[in-house]
Amino acid sequence: MSSRRSPDSERSPENGAQGKLLVICETWDGRAIKPALEVVGEARTLANRWAGRTVIDAVVCGDMEEPGSTLGSLGVDTVYHCTSPLGTYNPSMFVETLETFVRQHAPFLILCAHTLWGAEVVARLAVELEAPLVSNCVELLKVSNEGLSALESMQGGHLHRECSFPWQGLAIVSWNPDSLGPSAVYEGRSAPVEALPLSCLSRSDAVRSVRLVEGDVHSMPLEEADRILAFGRGMDPEDLPGLQELASELRASVGGTRPVVDAGLLPFERQIGQTGVSVSPKLLMAWGISGANEFTVGIEEADSIVSVNTDPQARMLMFSDLGLVGDGKAILRLLLELLKRGDAGAGASSEEVA
Ligand SMILES: Cc1cc2nc3c(=O)[nH]c(=O)nc-3n(C[C@H](O)[C@H](O)[C@H](O)COP(=O)(O)OP(=O)(O)OC[C@H]3O[C@@H](n4cnc5c(N)ncnc54)[C@H](O)[C@@H]3O)c2cc1C
Repeated sequence: MSSRRSPDSERSPENGAQGKLLVICETWDGRAIKPALEVVGEARTLANRWAGRTVIDAVVCGDMEEPGSTLGSLGVDTVYHCTSPLGTYNPSMFVETLETFVRQHAPFLILCAHTLWGAEVVARLAVELEAPLVSNCVELLKVSNEGLSALESMQGGHLHRECSFPWQGLAIVSWNPDSLGPSAVYEGRSAPVEALPLSCLSRSDAVRSVRLVEGDVHSMPLEEADRILAFGRGMDPEDLPGLQELASELRASVGGTRPVVDAGLLPFERQIGQTGVSVSPKLLMAWGISGANEFTVGIEEADSIVSVNTDPQARMLMFSDLGLVGDGKAILRLLLELLKRGDAGAGASSEEVA
């Protein structure tokens, strides 16, 4: 969890604290995306601070399996499920349904993850509802009867802007995905699910979703990636094409340490660690990375870590489920050859590894 301060619970809006908090839940491929689940967790934390008088509604936009148990176990009280025959990625088509929902259910606070999808939905919603919007929020400083103040992330996170506005009965907050952590799970808790029909498709006429094209794995956001290939100063710049080829084979997103970003081999948003992004992939491969604390704080949530390093004493190996001690360039070449031969799973002979 991040070390954000909590909003002033003593002075939370009296009516609001007894009212409803709405989370808009983005989905992808039949699941709620991770930042959306983390926003649900944040909503539950806020509701608990407000003496438990706040109820949490979640509107799930798009297909999702078992939303009642998944979202209920994170603290949602009622799930409203809105599916669309037009596929998943079209933010605007959900806006009218959400607008009608908000007018009927009158939440005092709406939370959504600040993804491309979420940012568009809440911006349109804020206009339709004439409600104030905190965009890319990293910290809610105060929610009281007098007003709301929050920190917004700007300039790629290099700058935070404190904004505040008087309380008007409803505020919308899109939350920066990097500023949230895993949510508390209430085992066995489940929420009732009600279908929420898509009220109108007309807004999707302006921009039609024509088709979905699989993204370039190299540019997939690190925070979303299930697999990450990270490399550090131990790898040669001339190994970069090979590392990217391996990443493509593994459908992995590419990231790195600060020295490789400083050297211009990767853009800043690909830096993992204290001053970069925190990641939580199922698999992280660390090539030529020493494992400095400033790097490893960014990979604490990774499920499995495989490291390649010439130094058997490298700190990175302490964090690894599997460590390959050897020259990264040679191991990379061998792995690519094995993948091309289609027998990477069969393993290499000891002569090949040597
Ligand atoms: C305030 C502050 C913030 C920072 N923030 C970050 C951050 O967000 N992210 C970050 O990464 N760093 C950050 N750093 C820098 C951090 O302290 C380390 O310097 C950095 O992580 C080291 O990067 P590295 O592992 O690529 O390089 P090195 O520490 O130089 O490690 C290179 C590794 O490669 C191995 N190696 C060498 N040759 C080979 C080979 N042929 N094959 C395989 N392995 C080989 C070496 O044994 C070594 O373990 C920060 C530092 C400060 C002071």
